[in-house]
Amino acid sequence: MDQVKNYLLPPKAPREFGFFVDGRWHESRDQFERLSPGHGVPVTRTAKCTPEDLNAAVASARRAFEDRRWSGLSGAARGAVLLRVAEILRQRRDEIAYFETLENGKPIAQARGEIDHCIACFEVGAGAARLLHGDSYNSLGDGLFGMVLREPIGVVGLITPWNFPFLILCERVPFILASGCTMVVKPSEVTSATTLILAEVLAEAGLPDGVYNVITGSGRTIGQALTEHPDVDMLSFTGSTAVGRSCVHAAADSNFKKLGLELGGKNPIIVFADSDLEDAADGAAFGISFNTGQCCVSSSRLIVERSVAAEFEKLLVEKMERIRVGDPLDEATQVGAITTDQQNTTILDYIAKGKAEGAQPVTGGQAIEFGKGQYIAPTLFTGVSPDMAIARDEIFGPVLCSMSFDTIEQAIELANDTVYGLAASVWTKNIDKALTVTRRVRAGRFWVNTIMAGGPEMPLGGFKQSGWGREAGTYGVEEYTQVKSVHVEIGKRSHWIA
Ligand code: NAP
Repeated sequence: MDQVKNYLLPPKAPREFGFFVDGRWHESRDQFERLSPGHGVPVTRTAKCTPEDLNAAVASARRAFEDRRWSGLSGAARGAVLLRVAEILRQRRDEIAYFETLENGKPIAQARGEIDHCIACFEVGAGAARLLHGDSYNSLGDGLFGMVLREPIGVVGLITPWNFPFLILCERVPFILASGCTMVVKPSEVTSATTLILAEVLAEAGLPDGVYNVITGSGRTIGQALTEHPDVDMLSFTGSTAVGRSCVHAAADSNFKKLGLELGGKNPIIVFADSDLEDAADGAAFGISFNTGQCCVSSSRLIVERSVAAEFEKLLVEKMERIRVGDPLDEATQVGAITTDQQNTTILDYIAKGKAEGAQPVTGGQAIEFGKGQYIAPTLFTGVSPDMAIARDEIFGPVLCSMSFDTIEQAIELANDTVYGLAASVWTKNIDKALTVTRRVRAGRFWVNTIMAGGPEMPLGGFKQSGWGREAGTYGVEEYTQVKSVHVEIGKRSHWIA
């Protein structure tokens, strides 16, 4: 662990991880070596699991579910484990943030903030475990009483992406555990370290063996096999809409497992002339640049009232040019490296496409060279029309497209002109406009005069092709349960056969 003592330099040698099944660490024959996107040096080595490893993990989760070692505990006992997890995460915050930064390329200060959010997820999950309950029907007449029980759905497969490896994990794991389910987790191959570290933390906190299992490897092999597995009762998938669609096919072709899908977005930020334009410009710069725009909820379509569009774009450019892009391990960095080579190419290709389509990059529009790692300048395109590829496709990078409107109806129409419905933000000091837009724009998460705010108490999820179901908070726990209707006869039965 000496290599992680100095959290402000890349490690001298990569940290090695096995995979975690049935409460024990296992070695694999093949390994994947991850180079940090910010420095290009090896930082971790993780297992390339086989289909047999996956089967062992699912069997372990199945045993742990069926013998009720976890679901049979009281909500208070499950909650106590989750609170201990929160405490251990507090102690290991710097170490976890360090590996998150090394593998993902996000700024270290941001990564630490994300761990704080994760701690809160476990605390909220602990409360939710204690409060989980069903319902009763005292309205069926004197002879019959009805109860609705909530039961854990069983073995959950959890597939997570590389953009927020630990945060997305922690927006799900405490709530899955609160419900009494067991699980097999498959993180993105390029960012597996912190999901594996969580296995150590959960074990130390007293989670019984077999409840949390982690297998690592590529999505196309081990991820696909998890989606098809006939002994997995529910799959929670967070990632691209394309792979989400393949999960639906896999569920239909295997065992009709229940699906939770958190997919892509092309999220609008609507700015009215009566808003505080300084605040809105700061929100728009943050909304597209945070995490290098590699957020499912990044606000990538600016829809601004025409009368203030030029003034607003000028304010925004001024803000975007002051964002500190740089080494993810530098405390002062606000925007770090692009996480994968493939994503870097995708973003630069979209920037080229935007220019070819006739949009104007008024700031950014190119890679930034530091001699190592891969970085892209926060970019604003003006002169964008709604049919351009940069206005329609999820780029998943720091590229914002500006479009204008004259009436509230046009603003709503532009905002809804997408196959996605993940998130939206509206900026106005007029309560009528704020509420009208909030009620009419189809998105699962909404922000009024703010952006990407909130905690794990609130549900997360999308409308339209952004997904199915909700994660986090009490809604999130309920997703991992199923309801059973129980009818109890009271008194003497009125006989069918006289
Ligand atoms: P992705 O390619 O869909 O990958 C997501 C996860 O699925 C990774 O663990 C990946 O493993 C795995 N995977 C890949 N192919 C698979 C297959 N055929 N079967 C099963 N699993 C497979 O997405 P990404 O590029 O990592 O993430 C970016 C996308 O995620 C964006 O569209 C973004 O909007 C979306 N996202 C949505 C949310 C949300 O809450 N709605 C949050 C974050 C991200 P490997 O990486 O190892 O191949």
